[in-house]
Amino acid sequence: MLAVDHHGSVLLANQALQDSLELREPVGRHYLEVVRQREVGELLEGVLRAGARRADEVEMLRGGRAYAVTGVPFPGPEGQPSGAVLTFHDVTERHRVERVRRDFVANASHELRTPLTSIRGFVEALEDGAMSEPGTAHRFLGKIRTHADRMASLVSDLLELSRLESGERAPSWQTVAPGEVAEEVAASFAGAAERKGLSLRRSDRGAPTVVSDADRLRQILENLVENAVKYTPAGGRIDITSGPASAGGAELVVADDGPGISAEHLPRIFERFYRVDKARSREMGGTGLGLSIVKHLAEGMGAVVTVESHPGRGTTFTVRLPPGQERRPG
Ligand code: ADP
Repeated sequence: MLAVDHHGSVLLANQALQDSLELREPVGRHYLEVVRQREVGELLEGVLRAGARRADEVEMLRGGRAYAVTGVPFPGPEGQPSGAVLTFHDVTERHRVERVRRDFVANASHELRTPLTSIRGFVEALEDGAMSEPGTAHRFLGKIRTHADRMASLVSDLLELSRLESGERAPSWQTVAPGEVAEEVAASFAGAAERKGLSLRRSDRGAPTVVSDADRLRQILENLVENAVKYTPAGGRIDITSGPASAGGAELVVADDGPGISAEHLPRIFERFYRVDKARSREMGGTGLGLSIVKHLAEGMGAVVTVESHPGRGTTFTVRLPPGQERRPG
């Protein structure tokens, strides 16, 4: 809270404001020296001039936080012009969420538009005559199918993310043998790995049972193994290992000896739509959403997923499952 008299001299700035805006001895100084931000000045002038309430949302240049600022006049002593009181509500988090949402909508629209543009292009080419050349027509139809499939997987990943974020899909707690889940996932990718000339190995170091959600765990592993198969070139190796975690509980490790991910990209790969190599990921049918789904699935059941990678040598994802976490209500 900040109070100023009709000259604009600061009468009072409470401790919270002083701390937030890093003000030093503001009382007695002109507010412009204290809060150096144009929007706040304009708002305050407005209140003093009109003698009426004013409100605005201001992103501070210094400190980068956002505040909902409301100014109201208060009467001066015996007919003197009035002063003003400003309150600052920190709305940084809301601003951040709004920005994330805006970016997300923009990204999702862009991702959907790309295959759509291609589909339209091939349809037009078919209409313009490619249809009469069976070989070309067949090839274009194949492309249309690929792009349509891509859109379908994007939409289903987006729906999955939104279900996870809305909390609609609560984990269903049960006793889970992580080794068995890993075994099933390894078996389901054996064919794909073989077709690509990858050796897929599976080992267990005696993973204990945990209280978890087997379906979610399967989905997490499927995403990680699918990525390993996708990004590791022919001749490579993928190891799926289960065992006890050092901090108690179990851990599942998916390691490959593929291209690896460089340190600058590593912290961001769990973000939505983040891809190290956009063109390459698209070519492989990736949506850039797989790992953000993995992160959400894991967080929702108290598991932690970490990644370690050395460019040129490979990537290792580790899923740590707490032993017998408390059953949450619902
Ligand atoms: P995508 O659909 O593109 O695979 P993900 O969210 O699953 O999206 O992964 C994000 C990015 O992380 C990928 O585009 C890829 O660049 C990188 N990545 C994930 N797993 C691996 C891996 N095993 N080896 C190398 N890069 C990987």
